[in-house]
Amino acid sequence: MKFAIIADIHGNLEAFRTVLADAEQQKPTHYVCLGDVVGYNANPKECLDIVRNMDIPCVKGNHDEYCSTDDHLEGFNPNAAEAVRWTRAQLSNEERQWLRDLKYTKLVHNFTIVHATLDAPQRWGYVFDKLAAAASFPYQNTQLCFFGHTHVPVAFMRDTVVRGGTYSKFKIDPAKKYFINVGAVGQPRDNNPKAAYVIYDADAGTIELRRLEYDIASAQKKIRAAGLPERLAERLEVGR
Ligand code: ZN
Repeated sequence: MKFAIIADIHGNLEAFRTVLADAEQQKPTHYVCLGDVVGYNANPKECLDIVRNMDIPCVKGNHDEYCSTDDHLEGFNPNAAEAVRWTRAQLSNEERQWLRDLKYTKLVHNFTIVHATLDAPQRWGYVFDKLAAAASFPYQNTQLCFFGHTHVPVAFMRDTVVRGGTYSKFKIDPAKKYFINVGAVGQPRDNNPKAAYVIYDADAGTIELRRLEYDIASAQKKIRAAGLPERLAERLEVGR
């Protein structure tokens, strides 16, 4: 079995289509989505449509939650809040209900998927370092868990201690547990503007991070035309 694992699409249709075209060439047997299908960029409806039509395992991201409820957005970054309000208005009640019904974690084949952390998935903590990863590992009952949320592709592993770092392709060591961030399709934040996703080849025991150039200019144009904050357009070309 071979899995294409995607996260943080965030309504970026150009990036999403590019990732799907590349993934198709890798001939995965399954697709998996780690949440945040919507929020920030200008095509939440279209991206949601694609994910729903694919009928794939998907967990809930924080933006999926914010955009599908009417909760107050106090304490939010103003750009994020504006994008959430805009996205709420784009989605139908039925679409918002679908997002609301997503689960926080899921078991897929022999691995776990979650948007943010396993110790408190509904609190949306950020795993940027070993300390945060170490808090998640005790709740991980499978050898592998894939997550998103930080938009920074880093792999953490635990044997006697927890280690972590960037990666491109590696072989899974059966003696270790892995907590792997697959990067973001629609809004990379590791100073690399290329869209990111992962191919997990369960038969070969390998994890491969793939990075792709896509039509950033078109995505930016749509953000500006929609009246979304300028910062959301700018950040795409710097990957921050
Ligand atoms: Zn996100």
